[in-house]
Amino acid sequence: MLFIIYSINYVFTHSNILSSCMLFKDVVGQEEIKQHLIDIALAGNVPHAQLFLSYPGAGALPMALAFTQMLVCEQPTNTDSCGTCSACIKAQKLIHPDIHFSYPVINKNASHKTPQISIDYINEWRKEVLENPYLDEQEWLQKIGAENKQGNISAFEARSIIKGLNLTAFESKYKIHIIWMAEALAKEGNILLKLIEEPPENTVLILIAENQEEILPTIISRCQLVKINKLNDEAIAEGLIKKGVPQSNTQHLAYLADGNFNNAIKLIDSETGADTRRLTQWLDFSINLKAGELYKWVDENSKAGRENLKVFLEYSTHIFRESLLLLHIQNYTARLAKDELNLAMRINKFLTYQKLETLLELINKKHYEIERNVSPKLVLMDLSLKIHHIIRGK
Ligand SMILES: [Zn+2]
Repeated sequence: MLFIIYSINYVFTHSNILSSCMLFKDVVGQEEIKQHLIDIALAGNVPHAQLFLSYPGAGALPMALAFTQMLVCEQPTNTDSCGTCSACIKAQKLIHPDIHFSYPVINKNASHKTPQISIDYINEWRKEVLENPYLDEQEWLQKIGAENKQGNISAFEARSIIKGLNLTAFESKYKIHIIWMAEALAKEGNILLKLIEEPPENTVLILIAENQEEILPTIISRCQLVKINKLNDEAIAEGLIKKGVPQSNTQHLAYLADGNFNNAIKLIDSETGADTRRLTQWLDFSINLKAGELYKWVDENSKAGRENLKVFLEYSTHIFRESLLLLHIQNYTARLAKDELNLAMRINKFLTYQKLETLLELINKKHYEIERNVSPKLVLMDLSLKIHHIIRGK
């Protein structure tokens, strides 16, 4: 019963957020950065190029959405956009004609003369961002069916950004372009240098990235840097309450989320723990060498796609690492949900410190092999057998 009330509550607030997305007040925490951006918007003193360098899930995209909405809003207040003028309504639906987006995409049709660019995926983009503006790149790529492919922002896309920003604004003072996960530009970032150095009047370019090393230094040095650090637990707890999560649960979830609001959202959805079940089964089949079941498990999971598999191995590493800490640090509070904690305690019953270390190294190595395109089936089968040997061996 509790679960039903909880779900309805959640869906209800979620749709509320949809219709009011994205005001500054809807962005979780980060009060100082909000104030900085509000000041800039109100003063009309907007830098031509900014780099929002963000901790994962700390809210760079929602922040950029709130900021650009305020720039186009017809009657902003001293603290936010109005949320009701026609410009705000369009910005909220991600259909404002002066706010454009680039994001990593894949080329589904290799036979096409020109590679597919962001606009080819605009419907998917609107749907996913409106549903969860905290989503990460991997989730986005899975939503557009990337499976094993890496996302890319192509040279063609970079040139179309320049073309777009050189047009006259349609309805607002500014022409705005947000490049989400600008790491995907790689060296094509060079194409944008001239635009950043000599921007047409009233253009606003916002690059969002999480890995500074993957952005060309020439770009970084020409952008005004806005650093978005990990969220504190209180901000995450507050954000969860706004999503309808009972207050009694929020502190624990915020702790597990580790500064990443997207993690927190996933935790609400996955109290059922699909990955935990997957890992529990795998360990059971491997350790007890249940050949038929193990073969079936490997077969099913090797079809999940390279990126999915990498995420699962990272998840397994997290569980093993927390087990290790639980084993060795007295009164350690593990970053684990209830089911995960049970699993970690079971793991600890048959593992020593050395065995755990060996396991972590092995998983790391297999993660690398998957990255290097070794067959997932081969990697998983080999890993399963080695897990058996490590755990059962003396
Ligand atoms: Zn407005």
